[in-house]
Amino acid sequence: MGNSVLIETSARHVHVTEADLIKLFGEGATLTVKKMLSQPGQFASEQKVTLVGPKKEIANVSILGPCRKATQVEISATDARTLGVDIVVRESGDIKGTPGIKLVGPAGELELTEGVIVAKRHIHLTPEDAKEFGLEDKQVVSVKVDSECRSLIFGDVVVRVNANFAKAMHIDTDESNAACVAMGTYGEIIK
Ligand SMILES: [Zn+2]
Repeated sequence: MGNSVLIETSARHVHVTEADLIKLFGEGATLTVKKMLSQPGQFASEQKVTLVGPKKEIANVSILGPCRKATQVEISATDARTLGVDIVVRESGDIKGTPGIKLVGPAGELELTEGVIVAKRHIHLTPEDAKEFGLEDKQVVSVKVDSECRSLIFGDVVVRVNANFAKAMHIDTDESNAACVAMGTYGEIIK
């Protein structure tokens, strides 16, 4: 179909700076590839941390690589309730004024003052894909999902266009479960 996009579910994860990686994993630490992701160059690493919120902890949270220029924690709204932090829905990278949290790694811990987001659902497109779909960077669309038993339409989906992207829609585990999204589920973009 000309307006369909593969839906991928992002599990909770952390992005770290080089400096924060060293604080958590020790001098000389690097991120090692566990699994390459659909977005070019991005990978799930073998390195995991524990998120320590005011209410509870969540262990074994994967760090995604490569390192970034800001440390950021992406969780579901359910995770935010579990941890006891506010649910703040933001686009990746837009962390000013978001909740903080404590990260614990094998070599040390780190008290973040901000950086915890529930990622705003989005679609990654290359400029070629965007042209084909007739969409622009930052455009907001809806996506209709026809699943086995929980079909729904997601509103407020942000289109992001970059030559380094691969075509895919990203939602979190709450959103995925709400729509019964499975491997290979496609959505239909509605402008
Ligand atoms: Zn994404």
